[in-house]
Amino acid sequence: MKYAEIDHSQEKIAIGKIVCVGRNYAEHAKELGNEVPEFPVLFLKPPSALIYSGEKIVKPSFSDDMHHEIELVLLIGNDVKNANEEESRKAILAYGIGLDMTLRDIQSNLKKKGEPWTIAKCFDTSAVISEFIPVGKNPISAEYNLSLSVNGTVRQSSPLSKMLFNPWQIVSYISSKMLLEKGDLIFTGTPAGVGKVVPGDKLEGKLDQILTLKTEVV
Ligand code: ZN
Repeated sequence: MKYAEIDHSQEKIAIGKIVCVGRNYAEHAKELGNEVPEFPVLFLKPPSALIYSGEKIVKPSFSDDMHHEIELVLLIGNDVKNANEEESRKAILAYGIGLDMTLRDIQSNLKKKGEPWTIAKCFDTSAVISEFIPVGKNPISAEYNLSLSVNGTVRQSSPLSKMLFNPWQIVSYISSKMLLEKGDLIFTGTPAGVGKVVPGDKLEGKLDQILTLKTEVV
C-alpha cells in the first residue's frame, strides 16, 4: 500500500487507483500530432507504479524512448459518482505534482495497432509524486505555473490556465464513468515540451514556489 503525504501534517492517505488524463493541453496534443479532444482522454496506472520525489525512475530495458510528462495531480478526499461541478470541487482534498513517465516508442506502436497504452504507461516507477497541499489551506490557482527541468534546463513550462478541462470538470467527467474513491489520484495531463530522458538525467518539477518534485533516471 502506498500513501499520499499531506503537507505539514502527520496525515497519510492510502492511495487507490490512478486515473490519468491525456491531451489536456492543446499545445501538447499538437506536438504529438493528436486532435484536441471533445472529452478528456482517460487511462489508468497501477498504484504499484508509484514512487515518491527523491526516489529514482528505472528505465525499462524494453524501451529506448522514455519521456517525461509533468502534471498537476489531484487527491480525491471522498467517494463521488456522477458528481456535478460543486460536488467535484468538494471531492478534491489536495493537490500535488507528478511525473507520468511514458515509453513513447512503445506507445506509438500500440496507437498504430489500436491497442491499449498499458505497457507504455504502467511500468514500475512510471508515476512519481510530490507531497500534497490541501485545497482548504491553499486553493488551486489557474495562474500557478507548472514546469519541469532536466539537468537544469527548462523543458516544460505552462500556467494551469492552459488546461482544456479544469480540475473539477475532470473529476465530474471521470465520476460519470467510474466511482472515484477517497485516496484515488488523478493525473491531469501534461503541457507541451515532453521529451526523452536517459539514465543519469536529473529531473526537477515545480508548481510555482509551492511544490517541488525531484528524481533521477537510472
Ligand atoms: Zn500524461
